[in-house]
Amino acid sequence: MSLVPTLVQLNRPLPPLTYLAPEGLPAWVRVRVKVRNSAALGLAMGEDPRVPTVKLRPIEAVLDPFPLLPPPLRELLAFAARYYGCLEAHLLPLALPQALLPRWEAEEDGQRLSFFRESGRWASLAELGEAWHRDPGLLPTLLHRQDLRGAGFTEVRLTGRPHPPRVTPAQAKVLLALEDSGGALMESELLASAGVGTSVLATLEKRGLVERMKRMDLLGPRREAGVDRTVVLSGEQREALEGVGLGAFGVHLLQGVTGSGKTEVYLALAERVLAAGKRVLWLVPEIGLTPRLLDRLEARFPGRVAVGHAGLNAGEKHGDVVRLLGNDADLFVGVRNAVLAPLRDVGLVVVDEEHEGSYKSEEHPRIHARDLAVKRAQLEDCPVVLGSATPSLESWHAAQTGRYKLLRLRERPAGVTLPKVEIVDLREAYRLARRKVILAPTLMQALTDTLARGEQSLLLLNRRGYENFWMCRACGKALGCPHCAISLTYHRGDFRLRCHLCGFEAVPPEACPDCGAEHLRGVGEGTEQVEEYLAGLFPAARILRLDRDTTRRRGSLEAGLLAAEQGQVDILVGTQMLAKGHTFPKLTLVGVLNADQGLKVADFRAAERTFQLLTQVAGRAGRADLPGRVILQTYSPDHPAITFALAQDFEGFAAAELPYREGLGYPPFTALSLYRAEAETAQAAREALDQFRQRLSIPGLRVLGPLEAPVPRVRDRWRLHLLLKGGRGALGEVLRRHPLPPAGPVSLDRDPVQFG
Ligand code: ADP
Ligand code: ZN
Repeated sequence: MSLVPTLVQLNRPLPPLTYLAPEGLPAWVRVRVKVRNSAALGLAMGEDPRVPTVKLRPIEAVLDPFPLLPPPLRELLAFAARYYGCLEAHLLPLALPQALLPRWEAEEDGQRLSFFRESGRWASLAELGEAWHRDPGLLPTLLHRQDLRGAGFTEVRLTGRPHPPRVTPAQAKVLLALEDSGGALMESELLASAGVGTSVLATLEKRGLVERMKRMDLLGPRREAGVDRTVVLSGEQREALEGVGLGAFGVHLLQGVTGSGKTEVYLALAERVLAAGKRVLWLVPEIGLTPRLLDRLEARFPGRVAVGHAGLNAGEKHGDVVRLLGNDADLFVGVRNAVLAPLRDVGLVVVDEEHEGSYKSEEHPRIHARDLAVKRAQLEDCPVVLGSATPSLESWHAAQTGRYKLLRLRERPAGVTLPKVEIVDLREAYRLARRKVILAPTLMQALTDTLARGEQSLLLLNRRGYENFWMCRACGKALGCPHCAISLTYHRGDFRLRCHLCGFEAVPPEACPDCGAEHLRGVGEGTEQVEEYLAGLFPAARILRLDRDTTRRRGSLEAGLLAAEQGQVDILVGTQMLAKGHTFPKLTLVGVLNADQGLKVADFRAAERTFQLLTQVAGRAGRADLPGRVILQTYSPDHPAITFALAQDFEGFAAAELPYREGLGYPPFTALSLYRAEAETAQAAREALDQFRQRLSIPGLRVLGPLEAPVPRVRDRWRLHLLLKGGRGALGEVLRRHPLPPAGPVSLDRDPVQFG
């Protein structure tokens, strides 16, 4: 058996490396290699045609008998790697858990596999793989794993805290193993793959670099199938259903107000697709926010649904992927990364709430799941349905210009009316009260009345903590994070000033650290303060606050939402997580305390996001048989994001906003590539971008910057941006002609969503 130079990609910031591997080894097979002195999982990507100039090391082992990813998914990963400027190996953990390894030796199948391996018959193995992709029943024990569904095992995750400059070699092995596997592993696997003892983990845990969590099995008996209410689709819903051509690629935008019955349309489509023997990939922005959806799916398609989300532990992820690769689940619901799930024969892709920012990854690889969902549908040759009450302007524009097919639901079924929306001018309220107003009289009165009627209210304030920041009245300085260029937020419950970017925290000082004056005061109320304020005003009311601080524990958000749904809460206070996807039968009043908060952000999508948030939260009021009322408190009652939300007029908003985008050359009229530089000094970051900019030689681009990022320093690293505007083709050309060095200070964010 001869060995030939073979390209091997690692999930690390390194270019593909060359090792000696068996001749004929197909691309996309995982291998184990030694890098420096530790073992790593690599992705073999075919022979390296270059003549080797150094002595090559052989790989340690071939882990897969053939590529485990279904062919269209391999194509999708290759596309995404090209588009986002990363390696396929960087995307691989999103599709296939690293620790999911086939068993070569298992039973009869296994003996055949190892026999082929020993005789170097990789082509025969590849053929077997193709056959297995058509019918996984051919190798029933290939991926069999026992003991995965036990009740509770310990998982180790990276906390995301920046690595300190010095760690021991043993600690580095653990951190690398975790990074390779996407941030989390079961403790036993981690210890085995890093070859270290538990004391290393304990030290890392003490240093705050990893956390250990006891996890229970989520996919167990939790979801008892609810009763499936079959609804008779309305005329509009039937039209939408018939408007989706099954069996061929096509992109559809389903626009309909919240509660207009979009989910029923997806369900009816899924039913047809499953009946035709195909599978359904269903993306949602966040699983925790859609417990009802899971019930509805399980009720409609009992035993055929698998669920994937970020909260799953390593064992649960395996379990799901094993089910998918065994063709054992026909409908896969999941969040962002699920777009790369190894589901076969996909006949429909659904992207619910397609406008949500959570579909975009904010860390490497910075994929956009909505865009990849469209690409995946193209590769699977099936329809994709993007649904929303407030579509992204990108998707809306595509529908307006005929690239996407527009389907609309204008009515809520069963005659449920949209709530009445009013505006309270906070400038006026301030003039009358002569001081800061948290609740203007109109909202206060509405809250009192709603409580008296025994109905529920929801108050939205998109800012957590007690006070947004502390400042010194003597010198005017705000207390800032020592590691980031933002101010610290006061959390009264645990008496801490905390940085919302890096997690730094400190006990609040008595005096100003700069001038020594004892005149510190808090500015800008957050949800914690509003909760306290409400408790003082309405001592008998049952108040529940839901924000990232109160829902850290797994399951607490679901528990809170359930309590609210069952009417055990009178006033819900919280951040935007309250705006999404729930039905609260007794909710009749929605108040937004500061509707223009999101407008101040330096981001061309600020108005779009504000409009979406206000419209979505307004849609929470009065869904059942009780009429709803929505009150928006604002300092800018004439801003289009506010006035169109008042009228709940998506089309009007889009028509008003799109010309601005066109005039300024922003998406959907041009594409963006954001080159982000991060370095220990601003100077180094700027130089890296300057150099990149000087080399650029592609015509038809507009280049802005280098400029400081809106938050110019995070975790002691300076951040600068270079923004490229142009056509997709030109931006792709930049990527090909000017590839970035893998571990350099500059990284690429294509189609950026967050500019912070
Ligand atoms: P959306 O996804 O647009 O928010 P849903 O599909 O969740 O809307 O529908 C909202 C509510 O209306 C659900 O309780 C759903 O069961 C109900 N519903 C939807 N379509 C119909 C229909 N044709 N007849 C009766 N009820 C319906
Ligand atoms: Zn910080």
